[in-house]
Amino acid sequence: MSAYVTTNPTTGITEHEFPELTDDQVSDIADRSAEGFQTWRHTPVAERAAALARTAAIYEQRAAELAAAITTEMGKPKSQAAGEVQLAADIYRWYAEHGPDLLTTEQLDPQGAQESLVQKLPIGPLIGVMPWNYPYYQVARFTAPNLLLGNSIILKHAHICGASSKLMAEILHDAAVPENAYINVYATNDQVAQLLRHPAIQGISLTGSERAGSSVAAEAGKNLKKSVLELGGSDPFILLDTADMSETVRIAARARLSNAGQACNSPKRFIVLDDLYDDFVAGLVEEFQRTVVGDPAEPDTEVGPLSSKSARDTVADQINTAVRQGATLHTGGSARNGTGAFLEPAVLTGITPEMDAYSDELFGPVAMVYKVSSAEDALALANDVDFGLSGSVWSTDTSRAAPIADGLDVGMAYINEHGTTLPGLPFGGVNRSGYGRELGRWGLGEFVNTKLRRIS
Ligand code: NDP
Repeated sequence: MSAYVTTNPTTGITEHEFPELTDDQVSDIADRSAEGFQTWRHTPVAERAAALARTAAIYEQRAAELAAAITTEMGKPKSQAAGEVQLAADIYRWYAEHGPDLLTTEQLDPQGAQESLVQKLPIGPLIGVMPWNYPYYQVARFTAPNLLLGNSIILKHAHICGASSKLMAEILHDAAVPENAYINVYATNDQVAQLLRHPAIQGISLTGSERAGSSVAAEAGKNLKKSVLELGGSDPFILLDTADMSETVRIAARARLSNAGQACNSPKRFIVLDDLYDDFVAGLVEEFQRTVVGDPAEPDTEVGPLSSKSARDTVADQINTAVRQGATLHTGGSARNGTGAFLEPAVLTGITPEMDAYSDELFGPVAMVYKVSSAEDALALANDVDFGLSGSVWSTDTSRAAPIADGLDVGMAYINEHGTTLPGLPFGGVNRSGYGRELGRWGLGEFVNTKLRRIS
């Protein structure tokens, strides 16, 4: 690949091309980031916070333009794109408002000295490797806390996100983040490894697939650089009882089909007690068939195309494999003819542990529904995957739901909601969903030098 190319997944038209870095430029980028770090780390925290506040304001002023860019790039429906831009703005504002207090020096019990204190300081230039599914939100989650801390950033976005990544850099620079404190690069995967080997670089945060995560973490480990990984998930949605099945089904369908199902923390496995199962499946099939799939630029569209034809074909193949292996397809699953990367929303049942779909992540508009006979069986099934990002338990009786939520091997457990993401809440997983935490005060705790100073 010699360029970052954006092909509009709705029309098939090539919209943008940005040339990749040459290998000779890589070392220069790392040197510039090191220079940017020296300036930015000595910029008072109040000024760093003010730059983030300005960033939030510019996101809001340019919201329509930003939203349109990702609708073109990766097919996000208009209203969801607007929601993502606002979430990114909210994250920058949250760190501008709360970050400085969270970085104040902590006085410890002196324990025999005159003074023992802990300062929270930046560690240096970092690399962010980000995916196409939430082009602004994923970057904000990494960038806002680390710029607030005083780290400098080299941002390598997905190959299809050339235009949105350029916009983000422009906004941060307009908000007075120095050019070298935030550098957007069109780098190859090998060049990311080359950057990691550069002595100035101190760490890397990647959101994406397990394959990408393990490759980057291996290189980071070899070079003694810290890594944070936010990888995939196959999150359970456990339904124990409900007072309103239609509403539960509506919520389930919306959660699964948002962003055409391309979210790490989307509920991908619906685990339903046997007395509710038939009604749930019938209701979900009806909701999926009713959902408006089409041009993401139209205001009524609920599900747009997948990010690319190859992403669509991967999910369609996973569905076909599940059916070939004995699962039942109740609706959808077929690719639409034409130029767009559309896939009809699908509902699968009858999945057993021998089938690939039981353990794989289905990154598209596909719900898998399982029937179980007790809450304990639901929990055992929920935990029987290698992932551990998030999960939810649904019941009118929270004392019944709480022990099940507590038993989930995940980083985020919810009762009667799924996947709520707010700037002040921690985000991250366990097991093969990755390690480290983003957002809230935890997002300031990954790439920080927790420095002790004692006066004896
Ligand atoms: P990738 O993991 O390949 O892409 C995510 C980011 O990682 C992109 O910027 C990509 O760059 C980069 N990348 C990939 N490999 C390397 C590497 N060896 N070194 C450095 N950077 C690397 O995801 P895909 O787009 O291929 O999607 C595949 C699957 O990944 C999905 O089906 C889904 O299961 C999962 N995924 C999970 C996401 C999440 O939110 N957790 C987000 C996106 C995908 P480039 O585009 O240049 O290859």
